[in-house]
Amino acid sequence: MKLLQDKIINEGQVLSGDVLKVDGFLNQQLDMDLYAKMSQEISAHFSAKNVTKILTVEASGIALAATVALAMHNLPVIFAKKHSTSNRDADFYCTPIFSFTHNKSYNVTIAKRFLTKDDRILIVDDFLARGEAVRGLINLVSQAGATTAGVAIAVEKGYQGGGDQLRAEGIDLYSLAIVDKMDENAITFRP
Ligand code: 5GP
Repeated sequence: MKLLQDKIINEGQVLSGDVLKVDGFLNQQLDMDLYAKMSQEISAHFSAKNVTKILTVEASGIALAATVALAMHNLPVIFAKKHSTSNRDADFYCTPIFSFTHNKSYNVTIAKRFLTKDDRILIVDDFLARGEAVRGLINLVSQAGATTAGVAIAVEKGYQGGGDQLRAEGIDLYSLAIVDKMDENAITFRP
């Protein structure tokens, strides 16, 4: 998506440790015009997939999940939680996810009542690197006996391989911008 690529080129920052910082429009301050356009594009791609719910993981996936849900005629959004709270349901699905940016593993959970075997789930996240977060979410969907209808990502770091591995396994993975190479001087996208 040209608009997202331009934003990344003009405002993104490549940090050491292979991290692309995009907090001026995607991760902390949210450019809602960009979010609306990204969501329309994702909605168009998955319109024939009979999606019943959007699933993401807190925190930075929630904004895109919410705007995609609005674009897809107000579907419900559910997000996996990284922290256990006193009001958590007793019955929940749980999976470990290794975090690329924090270099540690989290157990993420979702209350069983929010995922049913009839659900067709669109998984949404802001970034895909090695694919750990998406794999964890696919695992939660499978535990519920539900179906992963597809995966939508704003920025995929293609050179880290997680996305192509998921495509090779037959997942309908749609990324709006795929970074092929990046360093402090240049960011190159997959055509
Ligand atoms: P994965 O699980 O695919 O290895 O990494 C995806 C998760 O790590 C995303 O949920 C995202 O929050 C975070 N992430 C991975 N790479 C980057 C990056 O370069 N920049 C930012 N801002 N987040 C990243």
